[in-house]
Amino acid sequence: MSKLLITTAIPYVNADPHIGFGLEAVQADVVARYRRLMEDEVYFLTGTDENSLKNVQAAKLARVPVKELVDANAEKFKKLKTVLDISYDDFIRTTEVRHVEGAKKFWRMCAKDIFRKVYRGLYCVGCELFYKESELAEGLCPEHHTKPETVEEENYFFRLSAYQKQLGAIYAEDRIRIVPERRKHEVERFIESGLEDFSISRSITRADGWGIPVPDDNHQIMYVWFDALTNYVTGIDFAQGGRTFEKFWRDEDTKIIHMIGKGVLRFHAIYWPAMLLSAGLRLPNTVFVHGYVTAEGEKMSKSLGNVIDPKDVTKEWGIDPTRYFLLREIPPCEDGDFSMERLARRYADDLAHGLGNLVSRSLTLMIKAGQVTVGKDDLKKDVLLSWKDYSAALTEFKFNTALEAVWNLMGRADRYINAQKPWQQTPGEKEFEDTASSIWLALANLNEMLQPFMPHTASVISQWLGYKNSSSPWQGGKFMIQKPGKLFPLLLRK
Ligand SMILES: [Zn+2]
Repeated sequence: MSKLLITTAIPYVNADPHIGFGLEAVQADVVARYRRLMEDEVYFLTGTDENSLKNVQAAKLARVPVKELVDANAEKFKKLKTVLDISYDDFIRTTEVRHVEGAKKFWRMCAKDIFRKVYRGLYCVGCELFYKESELAEGLCPEHHTKPETVEEENYFFRLSAYQKQLGAIYAEDRIRIVPERRKHEVERFIESGLEDFSISRSITRADGWGIPVPDDNHQIMYVWFDALTNYVTGIDFAQGGRTFEKFWRDEDTKIIHMIGKGVLRFHAIYWPAMLLSAGLRLPNTVFVHGYVTAEGEKMSKSLGNVIDPKDVTKEWGIDPTRYFLLREIPPCEDGDFSMERLARRYADDLAHGLGNLVSRSLTLMIKAGQVTVGKDDLKKDVLLSWKDYSAALTEFKFNTALEAVWNLMGRADRYINAQKPWQQTPGEKEFEDTASSIWLALANLNEMLQPFMPHTASVISQWLGYKNSSSPWQGGKFMIQKPGKLFPLLLRK
């Protein structure tokens, strides 16, 4: 049994949750659920980044106090727990006292690398990032296509340049593994281009009084990224140095996995490890980087009015089909498109006709006998192969490939039923019992593989199979089969 800390990035709360973060939350949730299924001890942390200048601007636009805006929006992110069935263990808001105290403690631990300097630079508020002239696209922010502001002030700086060599070696030796590999090359190229010290505070005026004050200097507010990155430790009781922190961060045996989007790679692969080195804390093991989600082929944006809210999708299609679609259809590390037409097709083909049919067809046969004595396993080879492919895929965060392995087993089970023709066999006789046992075992196994992806569906199927989350039910015994209902009813869509 190993210990794991799994985190998502913490999104800004200047807008509602969108399906892009929904993807990240679901990906992280599958890893968490899968590792729990493997009986690992998992701590799954998510939260919200609330000290950004963007929130101040959004609150001004909405004419509400900043605190009111962040409270209301943070609640919507917290609710992803039910909206997308996200099994997080804790939710850290960067306006909470435990975070504020933790971020200050972290700052103090980095004191040897913090100094004051007058700085003039090009700042994109959207990114909360200073850009070099050479990084701009025709004078505009490459992410936001807006003109960055010229900012000049005396700030605190973090001596990132001191970690250039160490960071280079860390990636050369894969001490932090970045998935996919090409994102590692991106990080390596950035390190080779030269790491410059970066500003980690701003004047209280420019911050509009919002954010975490620099320890012992009330005129300066911490740079939002410096405070936000520390959420990975403040969310596990870093401020108090509590047991969760000891267990899931300090203990070198714990595997730490950060799940992020490609837009924040530099912060997680360069700034954060450098901050940890400075503070004398251990590094994460893995950074998994997903792509962006477009809506019907277009970039989602407020101005286009095409932002997809996960709760609207789950309301229409259900939670599990939405999770399934995101994980099966959006390539884990590439940009992918959210299309209602393809969601409808996946729902009908893979869920209603694929999974739904197999389950109802198998259980209807077994119900003839009322119960199944589990023993004979004609599909054992297929089941083992499927588990092998599934586990290998999940180790590599290939969620779509893992699902393919489950669907391959489904196809094999379907063909087995066709070949055995159990409807021509007699319940009570060996032939029928062997067929029923083999089908039961295949279903129980593929249902367990489905569990991290579609937890509700899997719990329903396990009840129909006559067991409730008992460990390794396929080792033998009698199971009372329940009459199955419709798993994924085909609905007429407008
Ligand atoms: Zn930007």
